[in-house]
Amino acid sequence: MFVHLGEWPVVLECPVCERRVTTRVSRSIRMSTHLMALCCCVIGCFPLAVLPYCLGGSYRVRHYCPLCGALLGHAWD
Ligand SMILES: [Zn+2]
Repeated sequence: MFVHLGEWPVVLECPVCERRVTTRVSRSIRMSTHLMALCCCVIGCFPLAVLPYCLGGSYRVRHYCPLCGALLGHAWD
């Protein structure tokens, strides 16, 4: 079970290596963001295809332990 954290690094105790760490944040673009951009292209609204990438919530944010690499949590969806 993962903990819901914010979008920025936080200090917590890693349950795997039991060290107090500042999380390493990884952001990746959601598949749904790509699909919305693709839909914009399909219906002919090419200029709007960049819009999904600018909206909040278009990125998946995950927090990892910088020492052991364990996935510690993610931001709210
Ligand atoms: Zn760790």
